[in-house]
Amino acid sequence: MSDSVRVRFAPSPTGPLHIGGVRTALYNYLFARKMGGKFLLRIEDTDQARFVPGAENYILESLAWLGISPDEGVGVGGPHEPYRQSERKDLYKAYADQLLADGKAYYAFDTSEELDAMRASFESQGSAFQYNSLTRVKLKNSIALAPAEVEELIASGTPYVIRLKVPAKGEVRFQDSIRDWVHVHTSSIDDKVLMKSDGMPTYHLANVVDDHIMEITHVIRGEEWLPSAPLHILLYQAFGWKAPQFAHLPLLLKPEGNGKLSKRDADLGGFPVFPMEWTDPATGAISKGFKQEGYLKEATLNFLAFLGWNPGTEQEMFSLTELADAFSLERINKAGAKFDVKKAQWFNEQYIKQQDPAALAADYLPNLPADQGLAFVTLFLDRITFPQELAVKVAEFQARPAIYDEAVLASKWNADALSGLQFIAQSLPGVDSWEPEGIKHAIHEVLEANGIKMGKVMQILRVALSGNGAGPDLMISMQLWGKAEVIERLSTALAKFPAL
Ligand code: GLU
Repeated sequence: MSDSVRVRFAPSPTGPLHIGGVRTALYNYLFARKMGGKFLLRIEDTDQARFVPGAENYILESLAWLGISPDEGVGVGGPHEPYRQSERKDLYKAYADQLLADGKAYYAFDTSEELDAMRASFESQGSAFQYNSLTRVKLKNSIALAPAEVEELIASGTPYVIRLKVPAKGEVRFQDSIRDWVHVHTSSIDDKVLMKSDGMPTYHLANVVDDHIMEITHVIRGEEWLPSAPLHILLYQAFGWKAPQFAHLPLLLKPEGNGKLSKRDADLGGFPVFPMEWTDPATGAISKGFKQEGYLKEATLNFLAFLGWNPGTEQEMFSLTELADAFSLERINKAGAKFDVKKAQWFNEQYIKQQDPAALAADYLPNLPADQGLAFVTLFLDRITFPQELAVKVAEFQARPAIYDEAVLASKWNADALSGLQFIAQSLPGVDSWEPEGIKHAIHEVLEANGIKMGKVMQILRVALSGNGAGPDLMISMQLWGKAEVIERLSTALAKFPAL
């Protein structure tokens, strides 16, 4: 086994990749980059009952959008091809056979009806049934039955599964990079099925065999897999293999911080929990995605990196490369990470300001001439959270005011303001150079000449032109409206403002 770090992201294509899964992929990617190792993408699709069409493609596209690029795996290739477990099906049987031959696993012929009956009878006595060292001796398997009987059942084509023979006594221990020492008594682990009757391996067998074959050194995955880890350790022991280092990532919690984040929270809160929009192939239901909601990939990555990890410094803005430099497993928290949507939006606001304004104009204001689009982007850039708000802002900006801010009128509309607006209305037609400095100069001059303070008039002028008491730079706004439009809006306002 080589020394260099090899990690993998191993999703099952059972639906859209949850944002927590993207975080798992990201942490694996960052760790590989940091350690100069390799990041693999393996698709764990042995559970045919839960297969969802389009899910694998969705996973690939989501990772590609964010630039979490695998070094090996599905879509890339590599020395351990194929990386899709359904295409490795034949390989797992040999490993299960090895465990059978070594007495570490056994055949079990119990039907699901028999097992259901067993469960019911245990429940009626107030206890829970486990297929384990105590019960296996009374059930229909190659430990309890005579060898000849087992041979006959197999020869006659009776369906069977292969189960791990979990030792009756003993403790499983391993040191998790995040949770430190984990101890579990083997009596709490049941004899898990390794090969199903359809000839497919279960997740546990395929996962452990592939992590071994693919020389995975660190298994970084969600906390929901922590209960499976002791079983996996037992499997490594049964095979006589060295187990990888485990690191179980903290749960993602609801925005309020109590309980696990669910799709329902997202629906109620109106925020996405999937990287990209997903249309359920069975129902046609659409789930929101970070991408389509207008989250930039830089913001999404930065936000995800901080869900359970921090650099230990004040720095918040990190590019993917900077994250890789700063990343370490030691700085991952044990406690669950609150999914704070406001923080995601804050990151988006920061990254929008770093985008190329001309590119934003081309992408989000495609119907405007380039110079106008650029001017609008510059005007609104620090007033938006999502780039698609640009078009809305422009439309609002270009619509003539339907109503005027009443609070501002109540406090600022007076005789001074009226004469100020009238003087401005008279001077604007004579402004030759219709650009911010020229307009400002003209307004300044006419007000000064008539002894009226700028402060008495400017907010009222804004209300007259836009309807609002606050907004982006007024001189640039006037330039963008154009001279004729400004003159028109001003005279309309003077006619519509309340009589004094
Ligand atoms: N296929 C599992 C999943 O869907 C992988 C868990 C693991 O990383 O071991 O998350």
